[in-house]
Amino acid sequence: MEHIPKSNRFRGLHALRRYANGEERCIACKLCEAVCPALAITIDSAPRESDGQRRTTRYDIDLFKCIFCGFCEESCPVDSIVETHVHEYHFEHRGENVVTKPQLLAIGDRFEAEIAAARAQDAAYR
Ligand code: SF4
Ligand code: SF4
Repeated sequence: MEHIPKSNRFRGLHALRRYANGEERCIACKLCEAVCPALAITIDSAPRESDGQRRTTRYDIDLFKCIFCGFCEESCPVDSIVETHVHEYHFEHRGENVVTKPQLLAIGDRFEAEIAAARAQDAAYR
């Protein structure tokens, strides 16, 4: 199968990113949840035990509701929630359409190099 080139603005499967030191970027501001027109994002938050910083305790995206508009990544002040180039995925069981925080962080960890490169290419226009 031959893949056609994708734009660096392609909006595919979501990911949550970390900083280079491993710290998760998300500060649980909930702007993405508020802006989502499909009400696809659900966030709960609480102060982190170790240092009291606010962090999400739940970050779910229902991919059956999502319309891949990109508003969540546009709204994020710390480039945490992003949409990757990944568009080949499927679900086999009921409920797998809701991707959770650990899953989103794992996607971010796996594709961070490509995510960072795509955003660097687009930096002049953001
Ligand atoms: S891409 Fe749009 S619809 Fe999907 S989670 Fe983000 S804001 Fe909501
Ligand atoms: S992903 Fe970004 S916009 Fe959404 S709660 Fe976290 S910091 Fe805020």
